[in-house]
Amino acid sequence: MPGMVVMKFGGTSVADAERIKRAARRIVDKREAGHRVVAVLSARGKTTDELIEMAEEVSSAPDPREMDMLLSTGERISCALCAMAIHDLGHRAISLTGSQAGIVTDESHTKALIVDVRAERIKAALEEDSIVLVAGFQGVSSMGRDVTTLGRGGSDTSAVAVAAALGADVCEIYTDVLGVFSADPRIVPEARKLDTVSFEEVLEMAASGAGVLQLRSIEYARNHGVRIHCRSSFEDAPGTFVVAEEETMEQPLITAVTHSTSEARITLIGVPDAPGAAARIFDALAQANVNVDMIVQNEPASAGGRAEISFTVPREDLRVSCAALEPLGGEAFTTMHTHEEMGKVSIIGAGMRSHPGVAAKVFGVLANEGVNIEMISTSPIKISCVIDRDRVSHAVQALHSAFELSGEGTLGEEETFRARETL
Ligand code: ASP
Ligand code: MG
Repeated sequence: MPGMVVMKFGGTSVADAERIKRAARRIVDKREAGHRVVAVLSARGKTTDELIEMAEEVSSAPDPREMDMLLSTGERISCALCAMAIHDLGHRAISLTGSQAGIVTDESHTKALIVDVRAERIKAALEEDSIVLVAGFQGVSSMGRDVTTLGRGGSDTSAVAVAAALGADVCEIYTDVLGVFSADPRIVPEARKLDTVSFEEVLEMAASGAGVLQLRSIEYARNHGVRIHCRSSFEDAPGTFVVAEEETMEQPLITAVTHSTSEARITLIGVPDAPGAAARIFDALAQANVNVDMIVQNEPASAGGRAEISFTVPREDLRVSCAALEPLGGEAFTTMHTHEEMGKVSIIGAGMRSHPGVAAKVFGVLANEGVNIEMISTSPIKISCVIDRDRVSHAVQALHSAFELSGEGTLGEEETFRARETL
């Protein structure tokens, strides 16, 4: 039965005039099938990267408020152009900035959190039989009334938040691949497209480097019961549905292998073995709004000894992290080492919760390949290993094959080629 659909198009799906027209056609098809449609668009192609470069050309430390003014323009361009293309197809359409669409955030520039969606204007436009285009990745701060952005990949979260506010039947995430894969098809050509994946698994996948969906969009969808369908903007075939765990048909031991090469590691030496030492360090990082991933610390072996703490942060946050920690030097730790070229490989699967021996197998596979493990962390459904960045592809391939993750639904040659080209 036709209902309300939110369609989100990523940057590659609106990269040029042809693709914008194609997205417009897809949106109109949905409307003509009887649905009410809101489309959330990303900035075209590499626009956001180019805008960041422009800022760096004029300033060594661009002001975050002005950065948001600048970056939010990319999504506005996409929406205005798409509205024009929809008009040419004979339909009513109106584009809205995040602020006009009622997306209200907290005050934190460049990483704002959505606190409310006041969707009256979207609803009014839908009532007037318009297709509504909402600029992704942005909102307006509730106190300062300034333009804010939601962090890289934030259009996914915009789309989910709008879908939640409207009570949409589904939030469709249109992208340049067929859905969520068992590994990055550029590294593992025989990777399998998953028909369904649970919120828990896809959260771990996003957190461990898979470029599928912005992490926060998945949390938001889970908290608000939004149904997500990740699919290709170039094909009609169904993609991957993100579902509650009880809805997954089977619970395979391992669902996916993910990897990341965009993190950095910080090691603090000479940390006092006393209550409050770790709190002080991570409090400083939290104040600087840095998202810490893996943390490893051990009790010093000798009495009165000092501990070492290692942790990972997104590489783009390394500079801010060091700046936040430096004032603590001497007291909270004696020496700080940083390592920018870090690699990480993870395996994820809800089934491992109830199966012993998965960790042993992972370590065995890496050992056979001669890959040294530098750090390890686990959750009930994930095992992550920090390894040399140059060995990441190799490790991903070895694990994908050891856990037999390819199989039916494997990409054809042409699709593999396209996945490689565009992912
Ligand atoms: N344009 C933004 C980015 O490149 C947001 C998005 O695409 O979701 O990160
Ligand atoms: Mg994206």
